[in-house]
Amino acid sequence: MQSFSTTLFADADSEYFASKYVIFGVPFDGTTSFKAGCRDAPCAIRQASYNLETYIPRYDLELGEAELHDMGDVYVECLPDMMTEQVSDIIADIKKDGKIPIMLGGEHSVTIGAVKVLKPKWYVVCDAHLDSQDEYRGTRYNHDCVTARVSEDVKNIVIIGARSGCKEEFENARKNYHLYTADDVRERGMKAILDEVAGLIGSDDLYLSIDADGIDCCCTPGLGTPEPFGLMPIDVRDMIGRLAPNAIGFDYVEVLPNDNGQTAMVAAHMIREFIASNFTSRQ
Ligand code: MN
Ligand code: MN
Repeated sequence: MQSFSTTLFADADSEYFASKYVIFGVPFDGTTSFKAGCRDAPCAIRQASYNLETYIPRYDLELGEAELHDMGDVYVECLPDMMTEQVSDIIADIKKDGKIPIMLGGEHSVTIGAVKVLKPKWYVVCDAHLDSQDEYRGTRYNHDCVTARVSEDVKNIVIIGARSGCKEEFENARKNYHLYTADDVRERGMKAILDEVAGLIGSDDLYLSIDADGIDCCCTPGLGTPEPFGLMPIDVRDMIGRLAPNAIGFDYVEVLPNDNGQTAMVAAHMIREFIASNFTSRQ
């Protein structure tokens, strides 16, 4: 039998009911504030995934052993509150079936519907931005309001890589969240910060959200809201590897595939890092 290439994430060969991890794309960029186009990211990330070997040496894992299923992309509604409900419905099904959801954005607003349903003890996010506006440009489901919405359901919030936001947002984040700026990471090192964060979280569960712009835009320029002076890709890989064992859900958002493919390529690696770390920690 010949094998055929598909548009699904590479090595996502399991049927839904046999799978442990369920990947799906949410090609929504309706509240984008700067450069539009992250609706194209799920497709670009899947294409990038075919560049990667099935074997992940760091974890001595053939990715397919982790049993992934890729549902494809949600046919999204135009309005962000409706999209949020769509995501919540899908996540509720995946949760009911005892699987771990892995969501490909789309913009960061896709996270809101997932966290609402999963109700983790902790929300850990990598982001250049604080995303804590209560409302922005006429909607409370803007990609600039994600942390504000999440904080309505989750008390414990960790932000790593932040370097952009208004004064009030920073004051609020310092008071109410565990905030580690990109400069903190550079000065203290990611390992020291992850030791501290892991100590706070203990054995609690968490939701892990990676906004691609947490990484320095000079490394991965395919971003809707690019920011320099950010994290290095390998620091974010370490963050995902360290925290994935406690995670009950994961997303990678805000990739805008208008570069030479490096941002989607990094995203594909990070998704595999999440799966490999979570899976091997359960063996
Ligand atoms: Mn964000
Ligand atoms: Mn951001």
